Amino acid sequence: MKAYKFFLFDRDGTLNYENREYHRDLSAVRPYPFAGPILRGLDQAGYPLAVVTNQSGVARGYWDEDDLRILHDRLCQEWDVQLRFYICPHHPEDGCSCRKPGTQLLEQALHDRGVASQDSLMIGDSVSDFEAANRAGIDFALVLTGRGHITQAQLSGTPMTVLDTVAGLWEYDH
Ligand SMILES: [Zn+2]
Repeated sequence: MKAYKFFLFDRDGTLNYENREYHRDLSAVRPYPFAGPILRGLDQAGYPLAVVTNQSGVARGYWDEDDLRILHDRLCQEWDVQLRFYICPHHPEDGCSCRKPGTQLLEQALHDRGVASQDSLMIGDSVSDFEAANRAGIDFALVLTGRGHITQAQLSGTPMTVLDTVAGLWEYDH
């Protein structure tokens, strides 16, 4: 398989359980048990990692960016890994260019790391992750956690890498 140099992850449904029922309480966000080991493994193998996430709860007034920072610090602590988070705080109707499937945050992450799009892999569970990666020229791997099964059905016929969970990335990349 192709040797990627940079991994960009979606957050909800990819690294942690979807949080819809508890969307006003970020302390209820729980990581998937398999997320920490794969992130740590890739980090220790020297790969830069980033998380690109739509968090319209900011625009909706459910929480603010400080609350997100606290959550992301906690997740990094639980995973024992340093991750850079790229966050769209806007409402879907704001028409911003950072909300996935917009490419602005992915392009910012590539720029910050100095890695070319063709050397990068985006991992996510949503059509918006697929489309953002596609538009940015980044390869995409679909995980079947979160809304992955729905996404797989929506994108049926589109050739893409499918992993049961992000843990599959380890065998995929090594
Ligand atoms: Zn945005």
